[in-house]
Amino acid sequence: MNRREFLETIAAAAVVPTLGRQDPALEWGSPVFDLHFHLRPQPAINLTHLDGAGVTKANLLTRGGALEQVKAVQAAAPGRFIWFNSYDVTRPDAEQLLTQAVKNGAQGFGEMKFHVAADGPELRRVYALAADLHVPILIHFQEVDHTPNEGTWSTGFAKTFGSVLKDYPRTTFIGHADAFWANVSADYHNEAVYPTGPIKRGGVTDRWLGDYPNLFGDMSAVSGNNALVRDPVFTADFLKRHQDKLLFGSDCSCSDGHGAGYNNPAAPGMAGKCVARETLSVLKRSTSPVIFQKIAWGNVHKLLRIPA
Ligand SMILES: [Zn+2]
Ligand SMILES: [Zn+2]
Repeated sequence: MNRREFLETIAAAAVVPTLGRQDPALEWGSPVFDLHFHLRPQPAINLTHLDGAGVTKANLLTRGGALEQVKAVQAAAPGRFIWFNSYDVTRPDAEQLLTQAVKNGAQGFGEMKFHVAADGPELRRVYALAADLHVPILIHFQEVDHTPNEGTWSTGFAKTFGSVLKDYPRTTFIGHADAFWANVSADYHNEAVYPTGPIKRGGVTDRWLGDYPNLFGDMSAVSGNNALVRDPVFTADFLKRHQDKLLFGSDCSCSDGHGAGYNNPAAPGMAGKCVARETLSVLKRSTSPVIFQKIAWGNVHKLLRIPA
């Protein structure tokens, strides 16, 4: 959109009557923070999803120059949005622009989703920068195409990311997406986008969440939801063991927080559903109110050192 349209959008958002009036805290028995919410161009549309899904606050994931849009969303709903920024890690100016984003108020890097190796030089320099700037880095790990030639992102997770965690103890990593969550099970070898059935204990994601204080898990998207629904007995135990390391996120693209327009070709069963609602529901039925509150709200505030 051009500058005029952008300003009109802000003006329109300012007069939407329901902004900030709803108190979504009660719906889930705890306020909810959505760590994984992709910035939508019109400020009011961002709020429609939050209010519809019963979410109190969200982290806007942005890419490249997004400061003006972030400011507009924050102005439309004071106190409800923070932001992360990402930038093409293959570009030589990546460190410079990511540093500037943090100076402008970004509280993390993400989501980092690029066609590079998880332990390659492009991402390694950003891991080091995240430590220097004291911000976490949220990474999309995916080894299997959803659609032909879609490509893979941050590849080599199961084989190489253990060494990255060792090499960068001062960097806070937040893992996300297909390969991160499929590797909760020890029998995963990149054969499916969303593996089903009972989980085999000892998967690398489970082990590393236990072994490395600098690794956290973002429960968003169908990948996070799938890991939670495939083996309820495992899930209850997993949530208990990693209750301080898991962060709720939606990565939902539905328009209204109730599933309108949601369509993921790799997960036909989720069509027309809101991923935020689906994952909050499975979390709620799988764990205690105290652990639910940590995952949905408390942990992210502690991690980002922001007041709850
Ligand atoms: Zn992602
Ligand atoms: Zn949704």
